[in-house]
Parts: sequence; structure tokens; C-alpha cells
Amino acid sequence: MQVLSVTSEIYPLVKTGGLADVGGALPLALKGHRVSVKTLVPGYPAVMRAIEGATTGEITGQSRSGHSMISSAQGPMFSKSPMQASTFSSSIAPPSMTVPAAPMRMPPARTISTTGAASPPSPGRRPDCPAWACQRDRWRNRHRLRPDLVHVHDWQAAMVPVYMRYGEAPEIPSLITIHNIAFQGRFSADIFPHLELPAHAFSIDGVEYYGDVGFLKGGLQAAWAISTVSPSYAEEILTPEYGMGLEGLLTYRSDDLTGIVNGIDADIWNPETDPNIVAHYGAGNLKSRERNKQALAERFGLVEGDGPLFCVISRLTLQKGMDLLAETLDELVAMGGRLAVLGSGDRDLENLFHAAAIRHPGSIGVIAAYDEPLSHLMQAGADAILIPSRFEPCGLTQLYGLRYGCLPVVARTGGLNDTVIDASSAAIAAKAATGFSFGPVTTDNLRRALRRTVRLYKEPKLWTAMQKQGMKSEVSWEGSAALYAGLYSELIARKGT
Ligand code: ADP
Repeated sequence: MQVLSVTSEIYPLVKTGGLADVGGALPLALKGHRVSVKTLVPGYPAVMRAIEGATTGEITGQSRSGHSMISSAQGPMFSKSPMQASTFSSSIAPPSMTVPAAPMRMPPARTISTTGAASPPSPGRRPDCPAWACQRDRWRNRHRLRPDLVHVHDWQAAMVPVYMRYGEAPEIPSLITIHNIAFQGRFSADIFPHLELPAHAFSIDGVEYYGDVGFLKGGLQAAWAISTVSPSYAEEILTPEYGMGLEGLLTYRSDDLTGIVNGIDADIWNPETDPNIVAHYGAGNLKSRERNKQALAERFGLVEGDGPLFCVISRLTLQKGMDLLAETLDELVAMGGRLAVLGSGDRDLENLFHAAAIRHPGSIGVIAAYDEPLSHLMQAGADAILIPSRFEPCGLTQLYGLRYGCLPVVARTGGLNDTVIDASSAAIAAKAATGFSFGPVTTDNLRRALRRTVRLYKEPKLWTAMQKQGMKSEVSWEGSAALYAGLYSELIARKGT
């Protein structure tokens, strides 16, 4: 089965969040299911530099329009040339990694915001996005891409099924995956003439969205099927509270909507071999984690303590519930906890965390940066990871936490709800508990969850049993890749009917 995946991010070439991890790992996992994936990614400068260093692979050249460049690059060079969008620090992929990629020439990553809000196109101009380049380059014919199915991710690629439906390839099955419905790619209606779509596409069953043009909305109308990244989120987005204006359309298409939880790349995230941590360990020798904990405490200037060392690895935003966490910090320290925070985001929230670090020197440390290697050390050294998100389509950091014996403390929403088993007395007795969850998402409930965590930390046997249980959890792509492969087959079979 040949699948063309279209995404604006792919690890290790360009990453701002979980979408990149999925873009990089899912194609590799699908190989085991006889699905061959070619990925189309924007040719951000960092991506183009990485491709230039290709030692293997084929570069078929620049298109006449100057907008795109197709290559099929093999991965060895990625280990020497770690690539991230220019604002982020570097990451390293294992030398064996292969990322079949077809980058398109695009402006720097920063001009294409993932929110669709930070840098809107100038009035009357089309926004640059992968879908546009696909259309512009008539990719199917020029590059002889003849996929059995096209799988697109989020609003940046959502116009691909729209172009397919209105001319390019209505007969090819398409799947759109929603990684976060908060980011919709909504633009003023005056870009419509620049999209080169037929006039009737500006309608309620096309790209028209409350009088504007909605990229995600158009993609949700046009794609053959819709998926999102956890079963709970698939239900939540049918409600006004989580659907962000698209709940009506999604309810209408709910027969075609499914939720498949993300996995993680278990080779990159493996505490037994991870090159970014100080001491390797597995479920059988958890004692070695201690050295990672010491290194982590040193990095964040934390003193020794009896309570758990919590960590946060996150965008500091309201979605992630960071305002709620900021309100509990004095109590967290009073309970004997320590906290290491890695992340940046809303200036006001950053300031709250910096202020707490000043109030509690040695107990709270903050590094306002994006640092992939440090994020690995934190998972390997911290006792628990805090994820109090207001909504969380899937979430990856709790999965890394499970694999690394860093117990997740999570809000009961979306993928967090589907992947963490709360330490209720029944779950502890059944040896099934893997973390702590709370809901509804309020400061008081978060406070209670912190208290429960601190209390259980004082029972080392129970704590270790939970770590081991978490480390046994199935968090790889194995099961989910099978579900995607099944969904692809179903859609391709539907083509014949
Ligand atoms: P989202 O995509 O909504 O930001 P996810 O949990 O799905 O949240 O994915 C976040 C990804 O980004 C994870 O791989 C996480 O480790 C990584 N990440 C987030 N913030 C940082 C940071 N400051 N430094 C390093 N990695 C980070």
C-alpha cells in the first residue's frame, strides 16, 4: 500500500510539538504493516539544509514554479545534522532512521504559524501552506506520485483533500487527522480567488466558514474520513465545549470519525539506550534512575529533598493548564515537593513560574527554552510529570513518562484519559495503576492530585510497583499503526464500491 502523508512538521527535520513526533514515527511503524509512506513536508530552510547533506537518496530537482523540490532522502545525514526549526535547539536521530521526505520550498517556519493567527497572510493574498504547493506543482503528475491513499495532518495540510475533491483526484481516498482542533487556519474571504478553486467551493459544504475561508473546515468536509488522536478526544470534539465551532460539522460526519491514540518511537525513547541521559536503566534496575535525578537536580539548581521531584515539559499556555499549576506552587513546595520546569510560551505564565523560582530557590527551577536532550533527562530523573491540561487531544509527554518510570499526574481529558490509569485503591489493589488523574480541571482538584502523589511517594513499594506497571504499558506505535493500516485498507476498499 502506498500512502502519501502531508504534514507541516516531521521529526527530526522540523518540530514544534507532538505533530512532528507523529509525522516521523508513524511512517516507520507502518512499514511493519506493509504500508509504504512518502511524506511531503515544507522545505523550511533547515529542512533544505538537511536534504543538501544527503548522502543517499534522490533529488529530482526544483520545479518550474520554483515552489517545490522533490527528493527522497535517506536518513543517515540526520544524525550529523540535527534539524529543528531555527528557533529550537537541536535533536539527534539514530543513524538508522529513514525519513522519506519530499520537501517543498517554503518560507521560514516562523512565517507559517501553527495557530494560523500569529502571522496571517497579507490581505488578499493566499497563505503559504503545503496544500498550496501541492496544488501548484500538480504533484501527482509531475512527480509521478500515485498513492493509494492520501493522509493529511491538521489545518496546514487540510486543503489537500479539498483540491483533490474539486479536481485533482476525487477518486483517491483521503484521511485527515486532527491533532488539535484549536488551530483551524481561518482566513478572510478575500483570499478565496487566490486559491484557484471553482466558485461553488465557497459554500457551506466547501471551504466557507462563518463567512471566512476555513482550511481545516474545508478539509473536514472534503476528506473521505476523519481521525483524531485519541478516542476520548473524538467524543469531546462533538461538543461545543471542545469542538471550537466545528462540532456541528463533526457530528454530521461522526460515522466517518474515529480516534486512534498516538504512540511513541520506542527506539528514541528508551531508557536502556537513550544517549541523552546520565545512567541507563530498565524496570529491573530502577535504582540507577537516581543518578539521572541528581543530574537533573543539578541542572535546575535544586537542593536535596524527601518529597517527589516533579517536572513539567510543555508549552506554557492556558491549554496546558499552566495557570492552574502556577497557583499551586507554594503548596507544592510546602508539601515537600520540588519542581523542574522546561518550557516557554505565554509571557505572563513564564513570569509566574520565574517568580515562584525566586520565591523558592532550591525547590523550583525554570529553564525557559526548547531543549530536546534535556527533556529526555527530565523524564529519566524526575519522579512525576505534571500535565494539568484543560484539553489534550492525545499528549505525548505522559507516554514518555510511563516508559521512563516518571509517573504522570494528568487531567482527566482526551488522550490523557485514555492512556493513564489513576491510582484509585481498586487500581492499586489490581496492580493496574500507572499514574494520577483528576477532573474536572480546577486548581482545587489539581491540588488534591498533588497531595495524593506526595502521599503515595512515601510508600516506596507501591510507588515502584506503579513505575514498573507504567513501564510495561503499551505505548509504542505497534497497536495504533495496525489501526491506521486497517483504516487505510477500509477506505481503499470503499473506493471499489
Ligand atoms: P503539544 O503538541 O500540544 O505541544 P504533546 O505532548 O503532544 O503537546 O507534544 C509535545 C512534544 O514537544 C513532546 O515531544 C515534548 O517532549 C516536546 N516538548 C514540549 N516542550 C518542550 C521543551 N520546552 N523542550 C523540549 N521538548 C519539549
